[in-house]
Amino acid sequence: MTVGPRVLLVEDDSSLAAMLSELLSGEGYAVVLAQDGQRALHEGLSQEFDVLLMDRGLPAIEGLDVLERLRDRGVDAPALILSALSNPADRVEGLDRGAEDYLGKPFDVDELLARLRSLLRRHPTRAGAVRVPGGMLDIDGRTVTSATGTVIVLSERESELLAQLARSPRQIFTREGLVSAVFPDADDDGVVDTYVHYLRKKLGRSSVLTVRGVGYRLGEIR
Ligand code: CA
Repeated sequence: MTVGPRVLLVEDDSSLAAMLSELLSGEGYAVVLAQDGQRALHEGLSQEFDVLLMDRGLPAIEGLDVLERLRDRGVDAPALILSALSNPADRVEGLDRGAEDYLGKPFDVDELLARLRSLLRRHPTRAGAVRVPGGMLDIDGRTVTSATGTVIVLSERESELLAQLARSPRQIFTREGLVSAVFPDADDDGVVDTYVHYLRKKLGRSSVLTVRGVGYRLGEIR
């Protein structure tokens, strides 16, 4: 199954959020909705997105502050600000503070979709990359690159195990589930413990978390 571009939709107005979610899903996007800044930060830091579509007027944290914090943490997905604050000074501020594009409310639906397509063309999705604790995993290249540029090389199985955990960063995996997904030829599920040990040696103890009595999950991405 192919999944369309992943969009983080940050919008506190419930009816507009519902309309945009439906519109984007209908266009093939995989939509994750955050209705306040805290949620947006959490989602933006724990999952990989192809594009960010963000309101500015949010409860507690302004949209541009959210975007700046995401940028500070290395989130570089292109961002389109969709805001009622849309005079030239507002737009300049948005573009200067990390947005790639800016559209005022009220907006034209076709223009919004065209601008998203344009952003995606200019920022091709990194299908083979996923965020992990301490950096970005290049699944095909089997490397983890930290924000400071340090490269850690993984074996094929280490990379596959880490990718499996990182594609669903909040899911708890059983050993049996990981064996069937990553080590289908293994005789017993002890192989999972062995490879978790290898990953922790290379990436740090907190890169993979033990969930007592259940299995494993990806470590926290700060
Ligand atoms: Ca708002």
